[in-house]
Amino acid sequence: MVTNRVEHLYFHIPFCAQICPYCAFYKHTPGKLANAAFVEALLDEVEVSTKGLEIMPKTLYFGGGTPTLLSRKHLGRLLEGLHKRLDLSAVEEWTFEANPATFNYDKASLLRDHGVNRISLGVQSWHPETLRLLGREHSPEEAREAFSILREVGFDQLNIDLMFSVPDQSLAQWEADLDQVIALQAEHVSAYNLTYEEDTDFFKQLQAGRFREDSDEDALQFHAAIAKLESSGYRHYEISNYARPGAESKHNQAYWAGRDYLGIGPGAVSTIGSERWKNVADTAAYVRQMREDGWAEKDECERLTRDQKRMELIALQLRTAGGVPLDVIDMNGEVDRQMLINEGMIKEREGRVLLTEKGKPLADTVALELIG
Ligand code: SF4
Repeated sequence: MVTNRVEHLYFHIPFCAQICPYCAFYKHTPGKLANAAFVEALLDEVEVSTKGLEIMPKTLYFGGGTPTLLSRKHLGRLLEGLHKRLDLSAVEEWTFEANPATFNYDKASLLRDHGVNRISLGVQSWHPETLRLLGREHSPEEAREAFSILREVGFDQLNIDLMFSVPDQSLAQWEADLDQVIALQAEHVSAYNLTYEEDTDFFKQLQAGRFREDSDEDALQFHAAIAKLESSGYRHYEISNYARPGAESKHNQAYWAGRDYLGIGPGAVSTIGSERWKNVADTAAYVRQMREDGWAEKDECERLTRDQKRMELIALQLRTAGGVPLDVIDMNGEVDRQMLINEGMIKEREGRVLLTEKGKPLADTVALELIG
């Protein structure tokens, strides 16, 4: 029997202090849920789901939700529990997502002391009006304070999440946001174009005509990010991601390379070999099932065909600076490929297909053309 070796683990902590109106992740306010029971359920799932797999994590990623919303006590229990259950000696990168105003020096030190070596800070903007519109609970000052606490504690791998093409956000404001992260010397910047996801308040506002999409403005702000960040020493290594040399996210690079990963927690997705499944996206049910049945339901299970995996790989790798190897792209797509080259959307270099500057803001559309 072949045992799958899994080197990438994702943990989903679905709690948020308040819900941002653009967010489509599985999340909710903590309500009356007992965090102690939630942490025990996560640790039980680690034990159950790793049976029959060879687990040797190189990267761990705690996302959500807001993982740092867990109290110091519960975070401590979770981190200690993981050290007891997993061999973490090969971990190269351990990321926690954090929102400003959800941690202090004490909590940040706890993470550091348990081996977390990278923090992704959800700042989104340095402008009070933009933060208000995005429903963020922190102020620009709190974001700066959070950044300096993380530095003080000793984190030397910090990502800052920013968002552009937000309603009423001017190009000058966006450039000022970029200047702030450059001045802070964050090692990594994720700059996301706001998207209007179904089942969000922003999507309703878009449909009601109160917000509008503008692809020209999107492209302008996208290229402003590339220009500013690249001229400040960041490498644009994926459509939404920029890093100082050596500070690229190892965990996300594993996703983009199509590697196996195990997801733990309510709503978390796993892909191992040709199997993909999603844990029940209901925290109360997840905790109850783990406690009573020793396992939690899967909302969705699918067997991926070779062709599905290949198409996913094209879509993911096209977004990266390394592009897609030509042999991953079906030869049947050659006509479309030539058309995309003629349109100036892609180029071929050293046996790989890469997006051009013109093609980058349209990465997903170009990928669909290539997949055919
Ligand atoms: S804090 Fe993050 S996960 Fe929570 S609602 Fe806002 S964007 Fe979504």
